[in-house]
Amino acid sequence: MINCSDPRAQYEAHKAEIDKAVLDVMSGGRYILGGEVELFEKEFAAYTGVKHAVGVGSGTDALNVALRAMGIGPGDEVITVSHTAVATVAAIEMAGAAPVFVDISPSDFTMDPGRLEAAVTPRTRAVIPVHIYGQTADMPAIMKIARRRGLKVIEDCAQAHGAECGGGKAGSFGDMACFSFYPTKNLGAIGDGGMLVSNDDALAARARSVRQYGWTRRYVSDIPGINSRLDEIQAAILRVKLRYLDADNAARRRFAAAYGQGLAGTGLVLPSAVKGRKHVFHLYVVRSARRDELCAHLKEKGVGALVHYPVPVHLQPAYSRFPSSGLAETEKAAGEILSLPMYPELPEKDLQAVAAAVKEFRP
Ligand SMILES: *Cc1c(COP(=O)(O)O)cnc(C)c1O
Repeated sequence: MINCSDPRAQYEAHKAEIDKAVLDVMSGGRYILGGEVELFEKEFAAYTGVKHAVGVGSGTDALNVALRAMGIGPGDEVITVSHTAVATVAAIEMAGAAPVFVDISPSDFTMDPGRLEAAVTPRTRAVIPVHIYGQTADMPAIMKIARRRGLKVIEDCAQAHGAECGGGKAGSFGDMACFSFYPTKNLGAIGDGGMLVSNDDALAARARSVRQYGWTRRYVSDIPGINSRLDEIQAAILRVKLRYLDADNAARRRFAAAYGQGLAGTGLVLPSAVKGRKHVFHLYVVRSARRDELCAHLKEKGVGALVHYPVPVHLQPAYSRFPSSGLAETEKAAGEILSLPMYPELPEKDLQAVAAAVKEFRP
């Protein structure tokens, strides 16, 4: 089976360096918030082009900690999209705030800025745009509206490590931005991990304290906190992998171009790279009105295509109590999208086999 992703292939590609990094942590004796986390935070902040980075336990936690650092909780509304990983909304719910959903633009699957302002109420505190599939949302438009309405912006960058918008990196636009290092992400750990970044000294300091029992000094909790720290071993692994992120993203972009050539004329809607944005193809998502048939055909041919995501968050039982209307593009997309195999180590022959299998589907 040719799978959508293969995180083990990446471990194999850098095995010697990763093994050494892990062994060094184990023999070093500092297992929580040691030198590796500190160095990785510095290196990741520099990579993203922001002042501060705070390592946490997962991408979901990064969003939750960001909201708590902003003092957002019960009684507050946070505007986001329903076309996202459930984690985005889970984090809002965990913080005690209420998600408010805005529809996506069908061209790039990100928050439609033209619908944002109508969702703002006196209770709205923040906006969480999601840079889905490796392409950023329309950040200039979203920031303009958020600033005018006095709203904080938290970018969900879990699928967009290294993506750019107008020359700025994903994560450098909002008041805070959150990354996941889930193994299949563009920058993935060998386990869970997450990071939040910010240019705001006070917000970053509060996030740092929230991630560890609300401590400002050891054993002194000034604000209520949680325990969500980036693991020292994962930080060591991520420091190795960060050095390959740009090359990995370049490979993803090459594969996307190859798919683009191979699938031209199939009638599928191929991903559109918006002008002025750099797409890093966390996923290569095509659209077809006959998605389920195409997916079944591919499975028969040994291609493990997946749907990201088949059920929009507002239609999931856990979140259906939150009001939702006007999400036509979100609901339509969920029925038509299909993610083809895409990861930096994807063998060329596999990519060609996927393209050939898709082409055969033509009636
Ligand atoms: C993966 C992902 C998350 C959550 O990350 P975890 O590390 O799994 O908690 C959040 N938002 C989006 C868009 C994601 O893809």
